[in-house]
Amino acid sequence: MDYKSMKPESLMMSYGYKPSLSEGAIKCPIFQTSTFVFNSAMEGKRFFELAYGLREKDKGEELGLIYSRLNNPDLEILENRLCLWDEAEDCAVFESGMSAISTALMEFMKPGDLLLYSRPVYGGTDHFINHFLKKLNILSIGFHATDSKEQIIEKINNSGRADQLTMIHIETPANPTNALIDIRMCAQIKQHFTTDEKPVILSVDNTYMGPIWQHPLKHGADLVLYSATKYIGGHSDVIAGACLGSNELMARVKGLRTFLGNMAGPWTGWLLMRSLETLKVRMDEQARNAAEVAKFLQNHPLVEKVYYLGFIVEEKEKEIFNRQYSSSGAMISFDINGGEKQAFKFLDSLKLIKLAVSLGGTESLAEHPQTMTHADVPMEDKQVMHISEKLIRLSVGVENYHDLITDIKQALDQVN
Ligand SMILES: *Cc1c(COP(=O)(O)O)cnc(C)c1O
Repeated sequence: MDYKSMKPESLMMSYGYKPSLSEGAIKCPIFQTSTFVFNSAMEGKRFFELAYGLREKDKGEELGLIYSRLNNPDLEILENRLCLWDEAEDCAVFESGMSAISTALMEFMKPGDLLLYSRPVYGGTDHFINHFLKKLNILSIGFHATDSKEQIIEKINNSGRADQLTMIHIETPANPTNALIDIRMCAQIKQHFTTDEKPVILSVDNTYMGPIWQHPLKHGADLVLYSATKYIGGHSDVIAGACLGSNELMARVKGLRTFLGNMAGPWTGWLLMRSLETLKVRMDEQARNAAEVAKFLQNHPLVEKVYYLGFIVEEKEKEIFNRQYSSSGAMISFDINGGEKQAFKFLDSLKLIKLAVSLGGTESLAEHPQTMTHADVPMEDKQVMHISEKLIRLSVGVENYHDLITDIKQALDQVN
């Protein structure tokens, strides 16, 4: 079959799986096994030669199954399917988004190096950068969506470590206010500091808009990172992560994963394959619902401002949006009239929408970034990002949007 001409959503049920290898089962079984039996000692030897890079792959040769820390059918098939969405050469699935991010950062950076990153990033990523990496003498410089390319280059030059810039890590749109970071601009900064001896790796955390609505590799990124806990898993019942990129870079990421042992298990792989079958349907419906909810909020007298990609007016942001995204997404934040008291009253009054952190699942969730997901973000960043006490973040799910709006309306009535 000519898979290349088909859309990923058509292939999520079958791609990479051969029923004949599993008694004809239409679905890939859960390969709940730690190790795999070799057909012969010579076969085992040849598998290990590949696993440790002791020889080149023969034409068409795949790494044979050895041991579930290195590979397992549920992970391999899942990884092949994830590659289709981002048009990546290879993928590694991890036991959490944080393990994907921390493994990638550790593989490509060493003591003395410099990291450039967009702010704010996910709290766990921020902590890893500013505590763990710092302890290894890997320093970092943060920048905001409002900084220009020239300002960022100047910051790097002023750091005293411009020669050691080895990685740029960004998150766009920025959580929780949907500020946009220009991936192409970051790729230009990467080129500016790349030398023959030292490449600079650009990684993009695509959790918010991927893998459907944004494809960072097309805009010059080297690695795409995910918390697969969010849209990819999509049912708020599994923690997982993923990293995608070229064969060359992914060989290194997978190498470190083998030795840290932070790959996802077969059960997680199976759950994510099940989730991928409905990924596009879910995300499309979530985006449609979000557009209706955003419209309702925009017109409500108790709502001061709505942060939603469908409402961008600024020219520069519009240009980035049109280039990078194919949807306004399903994440909305808004400022409620008042402060923490009003925000909490609203959150405590919701009935259908649940008060919880996380995002991207089938059920709608609401939270208060300033005191919850972004409690640890420095005050300066909170100000730049408008993460004030009146800000509420919504992850819109697949419910009927009329019911979501009814719930939001009655909760706002309680505040009044
Ligand atoms: C949740 C999240 C993470 C961390 O992922 P886990 O699966 O919880 O480890 C990283 N980045 C972003 C943008 C997230 O939303």
